[in-house]
Amino acid sequence: MSSVETTSKLLVTGGAGFIGANFVHYWLRQHPNDTVVVLDALTYAGNLASLDPVKANSEFHFVQGDICDTGLVEELLVKYELDTIVHFAAESHVDRSITGPDAFIETNIVGTHSLLKAAKKVWLDLRAADGLPPLKHRFHHVSTDEVYGTLAPEDPAFSETTAYAPNSPYSASKAASDHLVRAYHHTYGLEVTTSNCSNNYGPYHFPEKLIPLIVTNILRNRPLPVYGDGKQVRDWLYVEDHARGIELVLQQGQVGENYNIGGHNEWHNIDIVHLVCDLMNQAFTEHPELLKKYPEAERAAEGKCQSLIQYVTDRAGHDRRYAIDARKSREELAYQPAETFESGIRKTIDWYLENTDWWIPLVTV
Ligand code: NAD
Repeated sequence: MSSVETTSKLLVTGGAGFIGANFVHYWLRQHPNDTVVVLDALTYAGNLASLDPVKANSEFHFVQGDICDTGLVEELLVKYELDTIVHFAAESHVDRSITGPDAFIETNIVGTHSLLKAAKKVWLDLRAADGLPPLKHRFHHVSTDEVYGTLAPEDPAFSETTAYAPNSPYSASKAASDHLVRAYHHTYGLEVTTSNCSNNYGPYHFPEKLIPLIVTNILRNRPLPVYGDGKQVRDWLYVEDHARGIELVLQQGQVGENYNIGGHNEWHNIDIVHLVCDLMNQAFTEHPELLKKYPEAERAAEGKCQSLIQYVTDRAGHDRRYAIDARKSREELAYQPAETFESGIRKTIDWYLENTDWWIPLVTV
């Protein structure tokens, strides 16, 4: 078993996005002497403000650029002597993949391949040309449970051996990238790991995604859209628990392996919406002064957030249920989520209540 226990210089792609930024905060807290270089194109989903907490750290560097620019990635690997890539950069919103799949093919498939080519060249080929052994390295690919398709209510949760059956252009593009990562290990000996995670929630989540959408729409007195019958099931994990899972895979995961990361926390979408409504009603009851800060949040002030719920036409091809069997991570890596859903969802709501400056510029309607 090979492992990377002393990783010290990381390239984090997509580090200005939701999970990437939370991962960078977490990593620099846990490993303050490590170097972290973020490469991010700053698409609509990327936000430099999400990296404010680490920008003064001398070991942190931000580079605006595209993962499809193989030459740039090679340059960064050489310049900063990077030994680890943690690859988050992606187009990540299923609805956008339905209306405009091309960007998903470009970033998620071509972009991942570009990174793999750069890593192979710098970590393996240039060394071999000089008669040197490969540099100690790791390419960690961040993927999703959506590659496994959809589950019926009584089906067992997705394990690492579940056959891939992606249903949306987003999940198909992620599945393709997973296969490329695997192929670069088997064909060229690149030291790779992949993690497939369930739905994340937490701070710095772009407000088009379910939980921040509900919170910020309540604060702006906008309808709370619920797709179809709202009975789709998702398995929710606090974002910092995802970062901890990736840390464990980097430190103890077996090269060439996939690890499922999840929270054993399945919820119907409609129940999540009701829960967030209840917690927002409660927050405004306990802190009536919130209405001064959010004068539009009349329904929350009246304890009637639920009245904003509106059922809308279901998403095309909407997967019914995702659930992660994280036994392998638990048994091989001793992985356990630290946050309960109860504490994580409260922390998340508090974060949105306190960080208006972060999310207001991102909401357009
Ligand atoms: P996000 O959309 O919030 O962030 C993506 C980031 O990638 C943004 O900062 C964006 O600017 C950047 N980016 C996009 N295209 C780029 C390009 N061509 N070059 C460089 N940077 C580019 O996504 P997220 O929710 O943080 O997800 C991160 C990763 O985790 C994705 O690979 C996603 O598939 C995976 N994932 C997400 C979830 C979830 O619940 N959000 C769950 C499991 C897996």
